Amino acid sequence: MSEATEGKKTCEFRAEVRKVLQILTNSLYTNKEIFLRELVSNASDALDKLRFRENSGDKPAVDLPLEIRISLDKDKKELVIADTGIGMTEAELGDNLGIIAKSGSEEFLAKLAEQSGSDKPSDASQIIGHFGVGFYSVFMVAEKVEVYSRPAYGDGSAWVWESDGLGTYTVSACTDEEPKRGTRIVVHLKDDAVEYAEKYRVENVIRKHSGFIPFPVLVDGEKVNTQPALWREPKSQVTADQYKEFYKSFTYDFKDPQDWLHISVDSPVQFHALLYIPDEELEFRGPHEDEYWGIDLYSNRVLIQHKNKDLIPPYLGFLRGVVDTEDIPLNISRETLQENVVLRKINQTIVKQTLNHLEKMAKDKPEDYLRFWQHHGSLLKMGVHQDFAQRDRLLGLMRFNTSASESEDKVASLDEYMSRGLEGQKTFWYVTAHNREAAKINPYMDRFRKKGVEVLFFYEALDEFVVSGLGNYKEWNFKSIENAEEKDLEAFPDKTDEAPKASPLSAEDEKSFDDLIARMKEILGDKVKNVIVSARLTDSAAVLSSEDGVTSAMEKFMRAMDKNMEVPVKTLEVNREHPLLRTLLTIYKSDANDAVLATMVNMLFDSAQMMDGFVRDPQELASRSAQLLEQSAAWYTQIKKG
Ligand code: ADP
Repeated sequence: MSEATEGKKTCEFRAEVRKVLQILTNSLYTNKEIFLRELVSNASDALDKLRFRENSGDKPAVDLPLEIRISLDKDKKELVIADTGIGMTEAELGDNLGIIAKSGSEEFLAKLAEQSGSDKPSDASQIIGHFGVGFYSVFMVAEKVEVYSRPAYGDGSAWVWESDGLGTYTVSACTDEEPKRGTRIVVHLKDDAVEYAEKYRVENVIRKHSGFIPFPVLVDGEKVNTQPALWREPKSQVTADQYKEFYKSFTYDFKDPQDWLHISVDSPVQFHALLYIPDEELEFRGPHEDEYWGIDLYSNRVLIQHKNKDLIPPYLGFLRGVVDTEDIPLNISRETLQENVVLRKINQTIVKQTLNHLEKMAKDKPEDYLRFWQHHGSLLKMGVHQDFAQRDRLLGLMRFNTSASESEDKVASLDEYMSRGLEGQKTFWYVTAHNREAAKINPYMDRFRKKGVEVLFFYEALDEFVVSGLGNYKEWNFKSIENAEEKDLEAFPDKTDEAPKASPLSAEDEKSFDDLIARMKEILGDKVKNVIVSARLTDSAAVLSSEDGVTSAMEKFMRAMDKNMEVPVKTLEVNREHPLLRTLLTIYKSDANDAVLATMVNMLFDSAQMMDGFVRDPQELASRSAQLLEQSAAWYTQIKKG
């Protein structure tokens, strides 16, 4: 939608952009200063793009130093930022600053909605940088913005984009001489933001947020960023604060990193790397994931590619940072980069050093390692299937809560598990459950508890996939407790020699129990494949089992993938020694067709099904339990009265 007046084309912002702007212009954010970081970072990107083309032999029309100049005018309440970078064409001005719905806009709005519940003014820096809505943040401080731009590779013409950040913007031809190349942004400051026309204030903000920008930033002619390329400095010369500051400057993370690795290597390839482990779970997974991982690749201090994905394997995707190598040419194309041997070698070195680092952390600072594992473990464990060469090392780095842990936050490694194993044990037993409580009451746990066999608790559906098809770790295999066979545990004596819960059945009652089982099968009909007496339950009354060795967690996962909503038909195993089953036997013996018996058998099946993670018919279940509750309440009052 556009109309032309006096050579100016007036256009409307796209709807999402308008929403974002509305929020930013009226915002009560603290930390508005980060608008400057956004503008400087855009300018730096524009310079990077130009330098990259220049290095490939493509000379721009005008020869100028690569730099960012900021000039201030307090009286006019003006801040001007100019770069000699790649510039924008008329179409790019409109597209980049007005039309294109950034993938981030919606996430940005969602995040804002999430925060709007709180009555504290939000910190702008925590949200803006992440979402690719950087330029618009200028409207937190500006009542009007003009963007003049002359593309470095063009016919020499320049354009100006103007807006007050409300509903519309204009684009028109620019008759000014400035900028000679690149982009010049004039920010007309709001009354409450005139501090950004003060030199000391602007210098502080630049030093704080943009100290590591690889181009000179000059404020009223004076260079303010003097930081070296930290990754090329000797380790001994870099302070922890410098490391942290650098991390924040390029990730926009407001928290300190958990840890970092500074690597300098001369062979088999020469490179410097500064790699950080963020102290939080990565926010971005799923469809946009690709945009958010990778390592910035530099050749001799010159940025070649943002978020390169050949320098690290995906399972180390939590790493953030920089690799700088002189072994690749500056003008390398993106395509040849992918098959580059140098990158492959750097990748291998990074993998080795990172795993060394993590192993050392796990050994020397187990609490730090646990923190790392909680944040990034689910990514790291995927490496078991991605990188065969590192499989055993990665397995050695895995941590699990287990039946022997004191609480949910205590974990063990596979090696610890092995060292605590019973004599003759060669299997890592595991169970998948939502949490510790659910794992503990899993009916299959009974026998393991009785034998004192430790069980690994898997709380992520993924875990079972990680260990499935894996073969062995140090000659031990992985097996779900659901698939435990009689012979698997018979070598281990019972730990507790507590008295059996129920007295043995007489020969006659054994026969009656068989009849009860047959009656139960009749009651349940085609809801079950079979009803049998279980040899593996001690505390639980019943459990559903399938013979095909597929665990219920795996089955759920596969069914979700398959969108198959049918509930599988399984075998009901019952515990003959359990008091409930003994009571059912008493009822059965007095009247095989007792209606309450049928209700109870169905209830027993329902609860086994719930434990298994499926409910076939919740309405039926609810009405049955209501009925049973009503009856038992009536009986209870009768007994009480009597
Ligand atoms: P982001 O930088 O995250 O892409 P922005 O809203 O900050 O989002 O900028 C949008 C786009 O506008 C940039 O991707 C870039 O293409 C263009 N742009 C912004 N500032 C400049 C500049 N100084 N020189 C050239 N292009 C720019």
